[in-house]
Amino acid sequence: MLKPAYLEYRCPRCGFINAIARDTVIDMYKEQLEDCQHCQQKLEIIAANGINDKINLIVFEQDDYAK
Ligand SMILES: [Zn+2]
Repeated sequence: MLKPAYLEYRCPRCGFINAIARDTVIDMYKEQLEDCQHCQQKLEIIAANGINDKINLIVFEQDDYAK
């Protein structure tokens, strides 16, 4: 089965769809920080196994940035 090279996740702040390289989320269940490419919000992303070999991305806003 061919897997996409990028995973998409929605910024919870502005709704922009960002893409992250699959290779960079190989550390499952370990949070990592990315910036939203649209609003520059700092986002915490956690990869989790989904059904059918899919990867679910759970995205949180980093509160300390929104000042
Ligand atoms: Zn955003």
